[in-house]
Amino acid sequence: MSDNANRKVVLNKRPQGEIANDDLVIREEPVRDLKDGEVLLKTLWLSLDPYMRPRMNDSKGYMDPIEIGATIVGESVGRVVESKSPKYSVGDVVTSYSGWQEYSIISGDAPMVYKIKDQGVPLQAYLGVAGMPGRTGYCGLTHVGKPKAGETVVVAAASGPVGTVVGQTAKQMGCRVVGVAGGEKKCRYVVEELGFDACIDYKGGNLEADLKAACPDGIDVYFENVGGAVTRAVAKLLNSGSRVPICGFVSAYNAEDASKVETPFHVFGAMEEPPEHRFFLVTEWQDQHQEVTAHLAEQIASGKLKYSETVAEGLDNAVEAFKGMLNGKNFGKQLVHIAD
Ligand code: NDP
Repeated sequence: MSDNANRKVVLNKRPQGEIANDDLVIREEPVRDLKDGEVLLKTLWLSLDPYMRPRMNDSKGYMDPIEIGATIVGESVGRVVESKSPKYSVGDVVTSYSGWQEYSIISGDAPMVYKIKDQGVPLQAYLGVAGMPGRTGYCGLTHVGKPKAGETVVVAAASGPVGTVVGQTAKQMGCRVVGVAGGEKKCRYVVEELGFDACIDYKGGNLEADLKAACPDGIDVYFENVGGAVTRAVAKLLNSGSRVPICGFVSAYNAEDASKVETPFHVFGAMEEPPEHRFFLVTEWQDQHQEVTAHLAEQIASGKLKYSETVAEGLDNAVEAFKGMLNGKNFGKQLVHIAD
């Protein structure tokens, strides 16, 4: 038995609406010895992502629910501290879906594990704009949104990692880009730092009129991240031939009864002339993982792709940080720093 103790966050009870105090709890266990072919990872950074919340419900979406007692799913950056696999050496740093825990044992043959190549960007960026959320924004926009120069692109959750990449990529493609975000501070950042043409504060009480004023030529691409009131306001401004990549709808993730939620599919499907819209998963472009990751990392290194992050310290603060992110308390990518 190894000397290391592992701490992990497990699903104790399924949340009903907002996550309550005893829904997610920390458990401690010894780290067992490795079998042949296995690798022991020490978690350095943990990514907190909105999709984790629907997976705590007892309903099957595009992925299975997390079982009661199981470790909360999630991607992390970890360092190999012991290896019985010829594929990994001690000191390698990888991204893997190892969950909310301080140590994890993976098979050397496990899929979706990637060694990080040093491109001069911080390790945690591979969980944010150079990681899964960044690839989501980039691939969803370019393959499903298909923006053309001169078109108007709208994206909500604009200061988060997905929205950040969507907006800056669309600007590089010659589009007018309008963000939607919660609060003046986020909106100012989206325009002044990220270079969007405008950003609407959906909490400002004037969403429909503000959006209309910011989109004088209507909307050609709406990158759907949030659902709810923003979706309803956008639907009124969509141009003929518009495209809507449906990435997620975070405003509904804490709903007590998901079956009663008005989804973007209801809103767009009911329109007289619905936009071209479909749900997509970032894994549709898994074959482009390395290429797109390298592109986004290069953009960061050269200063073309800006981003921000909010860091919670230690596993003990992960649950509060996650609850906050679902309510917009994060400013940029929400991370948990576990170890140096
Ligand atoms: P963020 O880091 O941007 O965090 C979520 C943000 O959602 C909050 O910060 C908040 O920003 C916003 N939000 C919360 N509640 C509401 C509300 N009621 N109305 C409007 N906005 C709200 O998240 P990500 O960038 O990581 O993810 C963005 C979206 O992408 C999510 O829907 C996620 O599920 C989806 N996604 C989908 C993937 C796929 O493969 N399809 C893969 C990865 C992510 P603010 O304060 O600005 O409102």
